[in-house]
Amino acid sequence: MRSSRVAQRVTPVGSPATAPKTMRVRLEKLGLAGDADLALHLPLRYEDETRVIPIVRAAMGESVQVEGLVVDCKIQYRPRRQLFVRIRDDSGELGLRFLNFYGSQIKHFVTGTRVRARGEMRDSFLGPEMIHPRYSVVSLTTPLPDCLTPIYPAGEGVSQSVLKKAIAGALGRVDLSDTVPEEIRQRYTLWPFEKALRTLHNPAPEVSRIELAERTHPAWIRIKFDELLAQQLSLKRAREERRERTAPAFGPQESLIESLRQRLPFTLTAAQERVWREISADLSRTYPMQRLLQGDVGSGKTVIAAMAALKAIDNGYQATLMAPTEILAEQHFQKLCEWIEALGVNVAWLTGRLQKKAKEAAYDRVRNGQARLVIGTHALIQEAVAFARLGLVIIDEQHRFGVEQRLALRAKSGLGQPHQLMMSATPIPRTLAMTYYADLEVSTIDQLPPGRLPVVTKLFGQERREEVLQRVHAAVASGQQAYWVCPLIEESEALQLQTAVETQAALNEALAGISVGLVHGRLGPQEKAGVMDGFARGAIQVLVATTVIEVGVDVPNATLMVIEHAERFGLSQLHQLRGRVGRNTSQAACILLYQSPLSQGAKERLRIMREITDGFEIARRDLALRGPGEFLGQRQSGMALLRFADLETDQWLVEQARDAADWLLRDYAEHGERHLMRWLGRRADFLKA
Ligand code: ADP
Ligand code: MG
Repeated sequence: MRSSRVAQRVTPVGSPATAPKTMRVRLEKLGLAGDADLALHLPLRYEDETRVIPIVRAAMGESVQVEGLVVDCKIQYRPRRQLFVRIRDDSGELGLRFLNFYGSQIKHFVTGTRVRARGEMRDSFLGPEMIHPRYSVVSLTTPLPDCLTPIYPAGEGVSQSVLKKAIAGALGRVDLSDTVPEEIRQRYTLWPFEKALRTLHNPAPEVSRIELAERTHPAWIRIKFDELLAQQLSLKRAREERRERTAPAFGPQESLIESLRQRLPFTLTAAQERVWREISADLSRTYPMQRLLQGDVGSGKTVIAAMAALKAIDNGYQATLMAPTEILAEQHFQKLCEWIEALGVNVAWLTGRLQKKAKEAAYDRVRNGQARLVIGTHALIQEAVAFARLGLVIIDEQHRFGVEQRLALRAKSGLGQPHQLMMSATPIPRTLAMTYYADLEVSTIDQLPPGRLPVVTKLFGQERREEVLQRVHAAVASGQQAYWVCPLIEESEALQLQTAVETQAALNEALAGISVGLVHGRLGPQEKAGVMDGFARGAIQVLVATTVIEVGVDVPNATLMVIEHAERFGLSQLHQLRGRVGRNTSQAACILLYQSPLSQGAKERLRIMREITDGFEIARRDLALRGPGEFLGQRQSGMALLRFADLETDQWLVEQARDAADWLLRDYAEHGERHLMRWLGRRADFLKA
């Protein structure tokens, strides 16, 4: 789960002199803009150069160091231009092969020169060799290092020796005084910063190699702690800054909410009541709420959103709800109209595909404040949209939006800053929430409405398609409905569309007497709404769909879901899709049709889907399989990922760093400032979004 690392293999000594300026640019490219960055540029790994072994004793595949005299050096041209050097020690001969080399390098390999080479032994038809060994020219008396050699993340034109020199220089100049006071260090048994840093750059001979490699050494622990501490400090600072901003404080009146409760065909679950209390407390404060409401698919987030909106409206403000797809926005519009238009609330609807006239009319109602609740897609952040008195922004399926889009909607308020409620059915594991979400409070609906049975998931190979069709038949015969999700074809939307059309035709034929509808991303809004409406009313019994139905769609009578080529989907996506069924009290099923042979990863994903229904657990597995970068998505993370700490294994450190951050802010503010500067420098501002 660590951030990607640049492999570094070629490190010729005395590479051509590089002008200082170019080198500075190259170092900057590696994120090494100054001495502080260089000091914190820590080794990826260490190599053991403290021993030299006889050539014959080196096992194939092993990483070793040998030493010998050059017996031959030539440039070969086949199969491609390369430098081939042969060295010999008392025990045998070894080839050194360089696929990239500088002309001047040949001078290092004059016959009789003593060369020390480190690399992985491999077999070739010319005998044992190393490809791109790291090497140095030595004499009989050149001592072996007595400690491990650090290998740094390097980049183009920045060799290990350049880095080592730059880092050593920086370590001599930079302020290494501790930013964690003694008292706190003692509490968490942390090494002093300087000692930790120097140890990692130059480990003493007795330092445990295993602890260094596995990053469990106290020196590593201190550095990881510091990294996490910097993150916690910046999150807390962002939170404090938010508290200094103002937002409308909503009063206690809840007459609209009371009317809604009376109209609902159900009562809220205990979990819904709890998150509502949390949200409603936030909304009564004078600074903007920034809350994530998470809950597994089907846990009932929409009604909470409606209540929050009504609270704003009851207080004379507007609320807006932004959803990532037309279908979802449309569905929210229908559902919320049904629930709250009856309460006399004026609801407007805005998507990109509205006719010009309708759009203009909607803009007017939003601008003059007539529309109290405004529901829509990205169209809400169009320039022409302006609110009269926007008090609350709700973002559904927030992980589908980028940070900038959320900020853009917030900026439309017409007042100071509105409250913000984000919703997500892709639960963010706790550690991730604690580390990657700038200043966010989290409410969790950890309970499904009563009577829901977990969806039964079955895996079927393509060859059992016939059986699957029979099941669809049976479901429809018993008055239920089914989704049939077409395969994801990442390379081509057109192809995906074609497959969907063909699937509908095939199902129409196979399921005589059953009405099969089709919905996909290219349908116009009217057509799309028509199909969805037909499905919701039961006029369409089987709905063939592309992944447009992935998020949010709610048709409780649909109890069977078939997903074709399930092996092509990611875990979260499968869980979202599966969440479209199991929305009432009858037993629902999800059939994952797959095409053999399965890759190892696909096998693992399908197995997890069959065994686990809890969305939090699936998210945790997804995170473990993909790592936080991909899990969050580029747009989501919006900040550099951790370089040293590993959220999986260092969870305990996250907790400690969080407590230490409070301590520092309370008693050692100046230390905290220095710590942030050291670790984030100019990047500190980045975290505020
Ligand atoms: P999600 O959290 O996935 O957005 P929804 O808000 O769409 O879930 O709710 C799923 C379904 O459950 C909807 O049909 C909704 O009306 C219904 N629902 C919500 N809360 C309850 C409840 N407390 N009891 C029964 N049904 C509920
Ligand atoms: Mg939803």
